Amino acid sequence: MHVIVIGAGVIGVCSAWYLRQAGFDVTVLERRAAPAQETSFGNAGMIAPGYVTPWAAPGMPGKVLRTLFAREAPVVFRPSADPAMWRWIVRWLRECNLERYRANKLRMQRLAFYSRACLHRLRSELEIDYEQSQGYLQLFRTARDLDLAGPAVALLRENNVPHQLVSAQECRRIEPGLAADTPLAGGLHLPEDESGNCPMFVRALHRHAEAAGVAFRFETQVARIRPDQGGKLQVELAHGQNGRAPVLAADRVLVAAGVDSAPLLLPLGLRVPLYPVKGYSVTLLVRDELQAPLGALMDESYKIAITRLGNRMRVAGTAELGSRRLDLRPAALRTLVKVARDWFPVAGNYQEATQWAGARPMLPDGPPLIGPTAVPGLFLNLGHGSTGWAMSCGSGKIAADQIAASAGAASGPDIDMEGLLPGRHGLGPAR
Ligand SMILES: Cc1cc2nc3c(=O)[nH]c(=O)nc-3n(C[C@H](O)[C@H](O)[C@H](O)COP(=O)(O)OP(=O)(O)OC[C@H]3O[C@@H](n4cnc5c(N)ncnc54)[C@H](O)[C@@H]3O)c2cc1C
Repeated sequence: MHVIVIGAGVIGVCSAWYLRQAGFDVTVLERRAAPAQETSFGNAGMIAPGYVTPWAAPGMPGKVLRTLFAREAPVVFRPSADPAMWRWIVRWLRECNLERYRANKLRMQRLAFYSRACLHRLRSELEIDYEQSQGYLQLFRTARDLDLAGPAVALLRENNVPHQLVSAQECRRIEPGLAADTPLAGGLHLPEDESGNCPMFVRALHRHAEAAGVAFRFETQVARIRPDQGGKLQVELAHGQNGRAPVLAADRVLVAAGVDSAPLLLPLGLRVPLYPVKGYSVTLLVRDELQAPLGALMDESYKIAITRLGNRMRVAGTAELGSRRLDLRPAALRTLVKVARDWFPVAGNYQEATQWAGARPMLPDGPPLIGPTAVPGLFLNLGHGSTGWAMSCGSGKIAADQIAASAGAASGPDIDMEGLLPGRHGLGPAR
């Protein structure tokens, strides 16, 4: 049975790996020349299942409003006439209450914990090195920031996630490179969370998948998907010869095309409420080991992550809603560098940092959509927002298990799929 996967980001490549393991003939179609060249390229690298959180949270609308005119805002809103953006905002606002937040967060955590177990299994089976580091420390600059973390800490306690509220002194013991003179009220330490280089992992898994028989076709853009009379799906490519688009046939198609999944699905009557939320990162060589981070940190006041990736350090964050362009906005990059300099002033040469912008494929409620749609044979694996790397291996395994179950070859995913299926947004069966 032939399965086409559209997209070779972290989600598409993980899916392709597990589909091949389940015995399918797999072809991956990717418009770029290599895997992980879009959102999976420059992310912060956090794998923090204990702390995956929907963007739709109580207090977030107020926080967005308050920071609208701030110079160093963690969230930037650029109102535009785009109707898709306004539809997205209305749905997002509906999800910003405590009950919805808890439901969405628990769904995301269920997937993220499962995903970490899948990642660890894969890591030891295939001996993949991806510059992984252990431990995640949140930094609170003020007592007020520390107080605001109360509901999230309560959820950690409720769900038995190992964590510890630590003093400023203890933060500096965990991360000895932290600057002594930047105000710090305390921290939250999650010793079992981790970080790692996402594109490095994807490139390694791509090589293993290719060796196992997955066909990767790069520089191949999908223009259209359409069902045919014989119960198969036809995938039309954009650049055909002689004016005709080449067409590939598949028994199943899995769409893992990140933010650009929505326009591909619309002609099939599938309106996915996906919107790009732009973010930035800067990466620099570590010059002084003792003055650099050892693991992953998050400045909670600015919502900016600082991670150690081998001999480099990455600083990532900022959420911009309202622009689909991936231009590098100097003010956003300055904020990243300011925060990194506050904590690790001499870790490396900030002037030589490489800069990047990417678009998080964000759904208004938070959890991704994984599973069958109303179009027979068409499956989704998309909408992983700001935690796609943390959920990637689990999402890939689930998608493969679902496709195997649809072919009568397996019993379905290992975890409860409540709230993770496309049916959540009326795009497919509810269960
Ligand atoms: C600043 C920032 C920081 C982040 N930090 C973290 C973090 O610390 N931890 C974490 O877990 N997540 C993080 N994320 C989120 C994470 O990077 C994403 O959730 C994840 O990369 C999404 O993967 P994807 O495979 O769905 O999308 P992508 O990586 O964008 O892959 C989609 C692929 O589909 C291809 N494609 C699209 N349309 C077509 C088409 N028509 N034909 C052929 N190919 C097509 C694209 O070229 C692309 O390669 C961060 C994101 C940002 C922006």
